[in-house]
Amino acid sequence: MNSTLTPGLYIVATPIGNLGDLSPRASHILLNADVVAVEDSRVTAGLFRHLGAKGRMTPYHDHNADAVRPGLVARMASEVVALVSDAGTPLISDPGFKLVRDARAAGHAVTTIPGPCAGIAALTLAGLPTDRFLFMGFLPSKQQARGQVIAEIAAVRATLVFYESGPRLSAALAALAEGLGDREAAVAREITKKFEECVTGSLSELSARYADAPPRGEIVIVVAPPGEAAPASEADADSALAEALTRLPPAKAAGEVAKRLGLDRRELYARAMALKA
Ligand code: SAM
Repeated sequence: MNSTLTPGLYIVATPIGNLGDLSPRASHILLNADVVAVEDSRVTAGLFRHLGAKGRMTPYHDHNADAVRPGLVARMASEVVALVSDAGTPLISDPGFKLVRDARAAGHAVTTIPGPCAGIAALTLAGLPTDRFLFMGFLPSKQQARGQVIAEIAAVRATLVFYESGPRLSAALAALAEGLGDREAAVAREITKKFEECVTGSLSELSARYADAPPRGEIVIVVAPPGEAAPASEADADSALAEALTRLPPAKAAGEVAKRLGLDRRELYARAMALKA
């Protein structure tokens, strides 16, 4: 057992690009842990090289987590077990919550060493309201599932944060414009790295910008909350219903659009039946 640290689980945030963002406290834990659970040992080995040390790493990722978790939890009784992800804050679109849950259930100490997180960093760059935000992680890649998720959150009065990849960026922005309305948004890319940028505009402008030139690198999309919208017109309702009817039966389509546009569900159901006919 390491003599200066209490045994237990330590959740350690690591840089999302710039190694200078590794905190002294995070370095101390990584250098003194009995074992560091890592997503990819090649990635975390780079961090240890930066620290001038060889880490005591063990893999902990989606494919082996269930098998190795009990052993890691048992070690926490007498050893310092650290958890890192490839970059940023563990558990945020990364493995770890079950390890924390089981560590707590077993009565072990759980300590967090906060630090970089791409979603939070993007919020600080976007210039959009930060008083309420909803972190959505990655949208589904399939069109229908993506449309459903977007429809579920269309009425949420909060800034929305999504993780995305370059090849899917333009389509995701177009789907967001379709499902949420053409809100203001920001695309934050390669945060803390050499080619960091944050491009702002409406969702449709941003979708057009990236349509023919998918950007490289890592990306966060930030979308403004809904405005104080003018009441939806009949044409708005018809077009929303027509889109929803491609995915849902009339009753569900009417319910979804009623919620999103603040309209009467029964009237929309009648209209949905007429459109269907
Ligand atoms: N746990 C990490 C965190 O705290 O942000 C996120 C892990 S998730 C698997 C990886 C995604 O985070 C990337 O696909 C990208 O959407 C976003 N991301 C990570 N680093 C980034 C960066 N430097 N700039 C922009 N987005 C980043």
